[in-house]
Amino acid sequence: MRDEVLAAARSMLALGLASGTAGNVSGRSGDLVTITAAGEADDVVVLSLAGDVVAGAREPSSERALHLAVYRAYPEIGGVVHAHPPYATMFACARSVIPAAVDEFAIYVGGAVPCAAYAPSGSEALARNASELLREVGAVLLASHGLVAVGTSPADALHVAGVVERGAQSIWGALALGGAVPVPAEANAALAAAYRRRRSLRT
Ligand SMILES: [Zn+2]
Repeated sequence: MRDEVLAAARSMLALGLASGTAGNVSGRSGDLVTITAAGEADDVVVLSLAGDVVAGAREPSSERALHLAVYRAYPEIGGVVHAHPPYATMFACARSVIPAAVDEFAIYVGGAVPCAAYAPSGSEALARNASELLREVGAVLLASHGLVAVGTSPADALHVAGVVERGAQSIWGALALGGAVPVPAEANAALAAAYRRRRSLRT
């Protein structure tokens, strides 16, 4: 799991989804959560679901409450990525939903990406506000902050983050052309149902 988490963390930086020491990645196996260390993209800390350090010499990511809240709420989730991708963060700053207005967005993300109410970075309130919106979708915006994406593994969560960022970029551009035309509701409903089915199979 250490290798999977560090590989996803490196890809997150390489893809420009976060920069410097921002962003954090975790993965779950059994009752243990492996999370990037605070301010580091090259080391991890292993935590219990309650947040106790099980292994690792460094301080765990300052957003550990957010990661742990997701794993406690959703047993089918095996990876979490928190990043600050520029286009998704524009929507987070505007506190605007990213609509599922690109075809196939919903099959990877489950539907439109909601924006969680503002709470300070690293707080339990932020963890609660964000995790409760992930019941049927794979990503949520953090108001005035960034993005959280979840999946079956760290690599899967990173893939969802990339789909959301690309979608946000497309919608932002479409706004300049008069706004995105919605995908037909029945098409999105079928894709969202497929997303939910795949996710529930992993419980
Ligand atoms: Zn952040």
